[in-house]
Amino acid sequence: MAGLACVLVTSLLAGALDTNAVRAAATAARSVHLDAAARIAAAEAFIDLVRIPGGSGSEHAIRAACQQRLSELGARGVPLEGPWTNAPVNLAMRIDGVGDLARHPALLLNAHLDTLVISSPEHLSFDAATGDFFHAKESEAGFPSSFGGDDRSGVCVVLEALRQVHRSTWTQGRPHPPVLVLLTGSEEIGLRGARHLARHHPGVFEGVGLSITVDGPLDYETAYPKERLVAVVSEADAGRQPYSGVLGILAAHAGKAGVGWSRSEVGLGKGDFAAFPSTTPAGLHFRSPVRGWHRRERVQVQDLVHHVDLLVDVIAQWHRAVERGK
Ligand SMILES: [Zn+2]
Repeated sequence: MAGLACVLVTSLLAGALDTNAVRAAATAARSVHLDAAARIAAAEAFIDLVRIPGGSGSEHAIRAACQQRLSELGARGVPLEGPWTNAPVNLAMRIDGVGDLARHPALLLNAHLDTLVISSPEHLSFDAATGDFFHAKESEAGFPSSFGGDDRSGVCVVLEALRQVHRSTWTQGRPHPPVLVLLTGSEEIGLRGARHLARHHPGVFEGVGLSITVDGPLDYETAYPKERLVAVVSEADAGRQPYSGVLGILAAHAGKAGVGWSRSEVGLGKGDFAAFPSTTPAGLHFRSPVRGWHRRERVQVQDLVHHVDLLVDVIAQWHRAVERGK
């Protein structure tokens, strides 16, 4: 290939994901907790996590990447060995509590590692005008335009929120309750990872005081973009602890961030949380910052940052909600 043509092709391929434009969008994004460097790091973490292929049943590489990132925050692996062949590819890691809160019930944070098998992360692109990650073939009729925003955006929110809390408070040695991170495999083919954990490793869920899953499309039966943070919870649960406390944290956060929020019952029973043991308080989950359901996916950098911000507040304050409910 002639030199010029080669340069052209290379720049066209690179142009599909203009990392300078991503950095500019992250720098311009508003945030309650993340400075510009942390916002850029969150957007870059999202790109890194999306680019690791991992359809249902093939999550080994993404599990290893998440394990590495969580280890850097002092998390230790929870053993999930057993005699099963073809067990789902799950990751369970625990961050021990510190000080007075070390024996407090744990906060469980959950998202799913797998993407749809037909996802094509190689088509991840960025629209500088809207600040959206999108699928380069989203306009092609019939093309399954998922790049893996479901649920790598949720995984990214969990990891980056923990990183921010670790950086801002845990490294100062301040007391905090334990945190359990469950990143599951094979969610998209019948919650297999979560079901396996509940059935064969019920001890993992012991001592959990609140479980928060980050999953589900942000714009599904909501008033997006007016509402950019969505809690899914039943009417009955919304009025009782610990869920009412979490909704209080969400409302206060949305006020600080100047962002609209809502709560919905759409999505109840349709995620990992539905397979967790009935004793696990998993009645409330947040939607992930991904729009489109398994096609025409979009993830806006600003929404990613809003969700990391929200989870930072939940991690920092949830134990107060549990305390009030006792
Ligand atoms: Zn999902």
